Amino acid sequence: MADVQPVEIVIVGGGTAGWMTAAAFGHFLESGYKIRLIESEAIGTIGVGEATIPQIRMFNQALGIDEDAFIRATQATFKLGIEFVGWTKPGESYLHAFGDVGRAVGLCGFHHVWSRGRRLGLAGPTHDYCLNDIVAKQDRMHRGRALTAPTVPEMPHAFHFDASLYARFLRQFAEARGVVRSEGTIDEVLRDGQTGDVTGLRLASGEIVGGDLFIDCSGMRALLIGQALGVAYEDWSHWLPCDRALAVPSARVEHFTPYTRSTAHDAGWQWRIPLQHRTGNGRVYCSAFTSDEAAADSLLAHLDAPALDDPRPIRFTTGRRREAWKHNVIAVGLSSGFLEPLESTSIHLIQSAISRILKFLPGKVQSQVERDEYNRQFAFEMERIRDFIVLHYTLNERDEPFWRACRDMTLPGSLADRIALFREGGHIFRDSDELFSEVAWFQVMAGQGIVPLRSHGIAEALDVADLKAWLDTIAALYQREAAQYPTHADYIARHCAAPAIEMVPA
Ligand SMILES: Cc1cc2nc3c(=O)[nH]c(=O)nc-3n(C[C@H](O)[C@H](O)[C@H](O)COP(=O)(O)OP(=O)(O)OC[C@H]3O[C@@H](n4cnc5c(N)ncnc54)[C@H](O)[C@@H]3O)c2cc1C
Repeated sequence: MADVQPVEIVIVGGGTAGWMTAAAFGHFLESGYKIRLIESEAIGTIGVGEATIPQIRMFNQALGIDEDAFIRATQATFKLGIEFVGWTKPGESYLHAFGDVGRAVGLCGFHHVWSRGRRLGLAGPTHDYCLNDIVAKQDRMHRGRALTAPTVPEMPHAFHFDASLYARFLRQFAEARGVVRSEGTIDEVLRDGQTGDVTGLRLASGEIVGGDLFIDCSGMRALLIGQALGVAYEDWSHWLPCDRALAVPSARVEHFTPYTRSTAHDAGWQWRIPLQHRTGNGRVYCSAFTSDEAAADSLLAHLDAPALDDPRPIRFTTGRRREAWKHNVIAVGLSSGFLEPLESTSIHLIQSAISRILKFLPGKVQSQVERDEYNRQFAFEMERIRDFIVLHYTLNERDEPFWRACRDMTLPGSLADRIALFREGGHIFRDSDELFSEVAWFQVMAGQGIVPLRSHGIAEALDVADLKAWLDTIAALYQREAAQYPTHADYIARHCAAPAIEMVPA
């Protein structure tokens, strides 16, 4: 019997996308596969991407990574949600917290009960009915079952981490599972003259690396999917016009918040991501409405501790590749598209692409019907997340020209319909297996100021005193629970403090 030749997979790039892919493949593809990763220290990585959503825990758990060891290795902190400051108008803020808001009344979702309560002047902001939100704003933390009552939910959490430490952590993990790493810059992509498939990569050293399947994790350069195969990029900047970012670390603060903060400014917004050893900051802005100098000055003026470096510029175009899988190349990470980091979705998109690849698991023979289905799922996922991000911009009530332009844009039809459904009847429906749940859409639509005109029939029929009691009981229950939890800093010190690293200005 002839020997079965192993499938050779080549991962191009050693950023977060490359090493997450290598770690997962190394873990799940034990025999029959040879996995090699090529990265170029001369080119380097994008070096940002430090805020995540709770799904990252599923990735780590699937790989058997111990959570506290991962936190220590990456100087991570906990994340319970994202605070949006000034996104409706200056002086106002809300949190998109992970985890549920309130509790349904029978068939009737809590958002309906809330919207009726809001119109009657009996309901507070969504904050009051969300444990994650209350705990986050009190700078506390807890994992696992609630302490005070069985009806109180567990809090989902994610992390803020140092992207370069995470890549290093995953590199060790992947190499220990047989992934071979090659250092070098790829100068040429070789293709089969008849099929068009990629056959190999020529490194600057002259070495040729051949393979059956190539995973393009080369970042915005899109070395294989874009440059070699010429797959077009669908530009979404008419919906998401920010096109530049400046990133800068600042000194650690003693009191780190268990949430990401996103603060709206005149022509974009600023992120703040607290880690154990430093804080990550950045300004995302639209070059048509402000200059690079003004954006840098404003970024530095809004840090809460001294900057540790000069702001580093990054340019981008929001959008996606028309096809993420073409020939024998699959794009993962920034090579497949970019959505600004407002809802920390890029690392999740990497994770989701990896799990999709593992479901299809292309071998030496691949078919167009498989590629078409993969690309359909990829497009759906990207478009729904895009809508969710546009939602934050379009519902603003700010005065600056940039924000007026965002308010006046023609929305994707899928988003316009969602907003109208909520505004008219308080309805929110999750579309198939899109990433964001009803409760996420609820928090952002309510946080951006929509109070629906009507509610579900069950909510409309509730006795007013019962409705008030329902709302007040949930709020009191969650306040009582939150009061039991230690501060975020104490929680980390107790469970997963990372080794101290002294960060000094460059
Ligand atoms: C401003 C900004 C903020 C962000 N914030 C977040 C966030 O908070 N949360 C989140 O989830 N995501 C965030 N992201 C996205 C996140 O940074 C990326 O999704 C993630 O880092 C993955 O990047 P990557 O691995 O695809 O690309 P990169 O990090 O750019 O890696 C590309 C790799 O390809 C290699 N390479 C390229 N060309 C060659 C060649 N010719 N030969 C050999 N090697 C080559 C490079 O050396 C590198 O190793 C942010 C992105 C931006 C732009």
